[in-house]
Amino acid sequence: MSRLVQVINSGSSSIKYQLLDISDPDRPVVWAAGLVEAIGEPGSRLVHRSRIGRGADSDFVESELTGSIPDHTAGFAAIGEAFAAAGPIEEVGELAAFGHRVVHGGDTFSAPALIDDAVIGAIEDCIPLAPLHNPANLAGIVGARAAYPDVAQVAVFDTAFHQTMPPAAYTYAIDRQIAADHRIRRYGFHGTSHAYVARQAVRQLHLDPTTAKVITLHLGNGASACAVSGGRSIDTSMGMTPLAGLVMGTRSGDIDPAIALHLQRVAGLTADDVDALLNMNSGMKGLAGANDLREIHTRSQAGDAAATLALEVYAHRIREYLGAYLVALGGADVIVFTAGVGENDHVIREMVCKDLAWLGVALDSDANARRSGDSRVVSRRGSPIAVMVVPTNEELEIALQTLEVLGG
Ligand code: ADP
Repeated sequence: MSRLVQVINSGSSSIKYQLLDISDPDRPVVWAAGLVEAIGEPGSRLVHRSRIGRGADSDFVESELTGSIPDHTAGFAAIGEAFAAAGPIEEVGELAAFGHRVVHGGDTFSAPALIDDAVIGAIEDCIPLAPLHNPANLAGIVGARAAYPDVAQVAVFDTAFHQTMPPAAYTYAIDRQIAADHRIRRYGFHGTSHAYVARQAVRQLHLDPTTAKVITLHLGNGASACAVSGGRSIDTSMGMTPLAGLVMGTRSGDIDPAIALHLQRVAGLTADDVDALLNMNSGMKGLAGANDLREIHTRSQAGDAAATLALEVYAHRIREYLGAYLVALGGADVIVFTAGVGENDHVIREMVCKDLAWLGVALDSDANARRSGDSRVVSRRGSPIAVMVVPTNEELEIALQTLEVLGG
């Protein structure tokens, strides 16, 4: 079987893709990557980067295609044109499959699924749970199927990894019937990232994958924590939606739920206003006026008290979840930092791990401050709980899960 997978992340007006050769899963090679933008809008275009040859050491060339791309099906036709013109594969028949990222699989999907009409119907049924994301992901699936009816299509869900959570972790303490009627429960997200970095850390530390206790901190623009026991998610910080949990770039994370009601009753905001406030104008942006932590550090160093407080709130919330998950897991073998902030921001890692030597977390300040793109240990030798930085690779995880569904 071919081990070439085209990973698709489809937004409402965009298609991001990456063609991965995973003949050797330890040395995946990106053969091509690209982005179709402004689908259905004026100025739609495709930027395609592909290797000149097929080897991991061959250079990339970039090509651009402009012109009308009215819908996702046309977007896939444009991607096909770009491959035909620039390579490195000319025939999509060489592909094992398309692997589609799908945000919400509800409690229907606890694993990736080979896409057929029934799977599409089940993803449609999850639209009320992710009204912005699932329709966009579906548009990508429908477009790819229409453009390439003979290539297998697999859906990989952000929520699936967390379907192993026990009821005590996923049940909200509200009226049971209302919760059942509206499918209200904790689902969790970033599942492919948590699964990938937890597995990488366990491998690198030579832990027993069936018993290892891992706390993963995915800190990007969106952020979530996860407690992983023996390779299974037992708790995670995002909830029914990705708004819950850690403080994020623009999302509030956990707040008293009554605040949303208070704002409607007292401040005259509509439900949509509150939605926009909590999802787009809160978190670090709400606290310090910027969602990028690099900018917030700069401001803090220049004496901006709001920026300093924002960083403290950010780290404090992570520590709350760290404590909770250490109890849930009954200790931990390793804490893993990943994604934009987790991989690059040594100050945040220092703040999160500060004064935890009593607990068995002893960060190595020098190792922590060293910049690197590699997966690495940043705790002291002999620290009972290791601390690692593991670069996430959601595309690779989607490709691996896609091949697994096909039996490869
Ligand atoms: P997304 O959730 O969009 O995939 P990423 O995982 O790419 O996000 O993370 C993006 C965020 O990572 C940026 O908004 C920024 O806050 C943070 N970031 C990136 N590089 C650095 C850095 N060198 N230092 C601190 N933060 C960084």
